Amino acid sequence: MYDGVEDFLSSDNSIIPIRYSYRDIKKITEQFKTKLGNGGYGSVFKGQLRSGRLVAVKLLDKAKSSDQDFVNEVATIGRIHHVNVVQLIGFCVEGSKRVLIYEFMPNGSLEKYIFSHTKENYSLSCEQLYSISLGVARGIEYLHHGCNMKILHFDIKPHNILLDENFNPKVSDFGLARLCPTDKSIVSLTAARGTIGYMAPELFYRNVGTISYKADVYSFGMLLMEMASRRKNLNALAEQSSQIYFPFWIYDKFHDGSEVTIENDTDQEMKLAKKMMIVALWCIQTKPDDRPSMDKVLEMLEEEDGDLQIPNKPYFCPQDSPIADVYSSNSWTSDGTSVSGSKGPN
Ligand code: ADP
Repeated sequence: MYDGVEDFLSSDNSIIPIRYSYRDIKKITEQFKTKLGNGGYGSVFKGQLRSGRLVAVKLLDKAKSSDQDFVNEVATIGRIHHVNVVQLIGFCVEGSKRVLIYEFMPNGSLEKYIFSHTKENYSLSCEQLYSISLGVARGIEYLHHGCNMKILHFDIKPHNILLDENFNPKVSDFGLARLCPTDKSIVSLTAARGTIGYMAPELFYRNVGTISYKADVYSFGMLLMEMASRRKNLNALAEQSSQIYFPFWIYDKFHDGSEVTIENDTDQEMKLAKKMMIVALWCIQTKPDDRPSMDKVLEMLEEEDGDLQIPNKPYFCPQDSPIADVYSSNSWTSDGTSVSGSKGPN
């Protein structure tokens, strides 16, 4: 939409964050002293503002990110504020330098708490994961229906959920996000976007349905299932081959009325996990129209002892995605990093 970053910044777009100089950035990070991590788009450093507030400073790497990623972040989270969406405090554009400043999230990303059960990594209880899932759902619901523009995230996954000091979750990483008017619910994408394993089938197959906010509902469902089961949905190393794709396996268990147990979980916790799994099954329905909207998802998650109906069996398995057909050879990865590749002939 914009010719360049400066063009975007000088347009009247009610951007809230503060523009910093690169000299300020060096001061804030004490010359990039403490690295918090490396992401797909660059390195993240710890910093402190003059007010004393701690921040995370992301230096976008020219080779890994485009001006479009930068504009996407500033244009989306730069204009909104919600407890479950990470706050963009400032940015810096100077020459070829692109920097984003976020509120600091001391507990890092959710990913390390769901999949790692080692002693060094404190794992979260079922109740904690449940309350995190409610927070994430509220954050996405706000993006879809709470602002004057619909914000479609397109990359909901454990890595992009950050946790504050009290383990309140915040949706982050809006590099693939899209803004669309609230009266328009279908988006046309010239590039497939998301992360393998969390991407909705309509992003692969046009005949499944149109691309809309329901793509985020699907990704949330995959995340919710992983939080409830505390395992990856797709696990090629599963002991029984029927367990390789967990959502199919759990669906069959529920459908047959079999008891499902998770190691160390009490009956109460198992009940909560089962509720999360059933809601997740609704969210990952193959056809977008069969998936609930996020306000309905919240309603189902908050229902006390409600007898949630088991939906139809989803029939799309991420393993089946025709990756080679969808992306040009070097624009995707299978290691959990995001892709934004050009669609192939399909
Ligand atoms: P990318 O979007 O480039 O993939 P990430 O957002 O994943 O980068 O950031 C890389 C790492 O930096 C993450 O694993 C996380 O631990 C850390 N990080 C990112 N944002 C914050 C933040 N706001 N507060 C604290 N740590 C953060």
